[in-house]
Amino acid sequence: MATQKKRITIVGAGLTGSLLGVLLGQRGYQVDLYERRPSQTTGDADSGRSINLALSQRGIVALEKAGLMDDVQPLLIPMKGRMLHLEDGRSQFSAYGQRPNEVIYSISRRDLNSLLVNEAIKAEDVNVHFQRKCKSVDFTQKKLTLTNESDGSEGTISFDTLIGADGAGSQVRRSMIDHVDGHSESVFLDHDYKELEIPAAAEGYRFEKNALHIWPRGEFMLIALPNLDGSFTVTLFLPKQGDPSFESLSSEAAVQKFFEDVFPTAKAEMPDLVEDFFDHPAGRLGTVRCQPWHVKDYGLIIGDAAHAIVPFHGQGMNCAFEDCSELLRLLDQFDDDWRQVGAALSESRKPNADAIAEMALENYTTMRSTVTDPKYALKKEIGFELERRFPDKYIPRYSMVMFHTMPYAEALAEGVRQTEILDRLTESIDSIDDVDWELAEKLVTASSAP
Ligand code: FAD
Repeated sequence: MATQKKRITIVGAGLTGSLLGVLLGQRGYQVDLYERRPSQTTGDADSGRSINLALSQRGIVALEKAGLMDDVQPLLIPMKGRMLHLEDGRSQFSAYGQRPNEVIYSISRRDLNSLLVNEAIKAEDVNVHFQRKCKSVDFTQKKLTLTNESDGSEGTISFDTLIGADGAGSQVRRSMIDHVDGHSESVFLDHDYKELEIPAAAEGYRFEKNALHIWPRGEFMLIALPNLDGSFTVTLFLPKQGDPSFESLSSEAAVQKFFEDVFPTAKAEMPDLVEDFFDHPAGRLGTVRCQPWHVKDYGLIIGDAAHAIVPFHGQGMNCAFEDCSELLRLLDQFDDDWRQVGAALSESRKPNADAIAEMALENYTTMRSTVTDPKYALKKEIGFELERRFPDKYIPRYSMVMFHTMPYAEALAEGVRQTEILDRLTESIDSIDDVDWELAEKLVTASSAP
């Protein structure tokens, strides 16, 4: 517990900032949260982020720490696996895990963010200030300049410790990196995304409710996640330029033809396709890497502000929530000595953020292309069998990331070992019945799993 009510100032009441505000309030800190949006719009999709998200184990652990899982539970839709919609019209289900609890959950960003912000508002020691945009931070003077978004006026406040949870385009990061002469880079894909909708039918969901739907098409893909109201939020990931691309889909006819040719089963369930396509903006997909994440005991960045990643592993928010869990653990370990906590958080999380950034990029190819390769399905099946036979020695990488909380960097390293094992075992076979299980045992037990 904090001995005195130390003041913490957080910029950004998105998913990370609001959860962190709640957790630090519970720990006895006096928290001020500054958010540029008006209260009722926090979490809205026009922030350039998705309408719904996949929540998994790492995120759940942090929500449990805050005592919020009972409230979050009714918002969740379990997704047990991927439903692949293949080019020949067939659909094929592929489970994410092999135990009943190995599912991920679709949740509305808006509902989750509202829940977290309301929890922060209710907390005695947390004050949430809406429509206050961080314009700049002077880390030398420990002063934060805020613009009042309702009337344009500006004000400066002092802080003891400032945490930037202001997302991928973080102003706090910019000021901090300038202050310490650090390094920051944002690398964007040459693919964008656009959100569309499959509305609810009179009788309910138009596709299987408990799955994440993918229409993999090699260089690009369409995905759909279920919402509580029976609809699906659909996301098209497509190159910015070339053919096909967002640039080439510039007319109503081009959009109609593209969807009819490439995604006919989805198009049949999207009555507002053309309106949605031209009404909704295309969003960018990027990775933020920077160093350092802290300045002494008075500055820290967390969540997307420190390590935004592409969304293909469904881990951006989960990783950010895990930052919050780790911060709490370090506050315990260092008895709330922020000088040590900031440095330790950067040290423990940076390699893991880098690892999930890499796996997220890799997963784009897996989702849009590799999933349709029979060899991929065979390796997945063998991976599950190895997990059944050698549970202490083999957990498939996807499961390590989504259903466990071992460090991402370990999952990445273990994934390399698993690829070698699976490549070897499937060199000359096409069926799990032909696996050489003696060799499998030798390979799995020869090197050590995390
Ligand atoms: P943000 O959500 O960006 O929140 C930042 C907050 O700070 C916002 O409220 C913003 O208004 C505020 N703010 C910004 N600048 C200022 C300022 N100058 N002053 C004051 N306030 C400011 N993650 C998953 O785990 N699972 C998924 O399935 C998933 N799907 C995704 C799909 C897409 C298409 C995208 C783009 C991302 C997805 N993510 C997913 C990632 C996830 O959205 C982010 O990791 C998460 O939103 C990070 O939360 P955050 O609070 O750090 O940042």
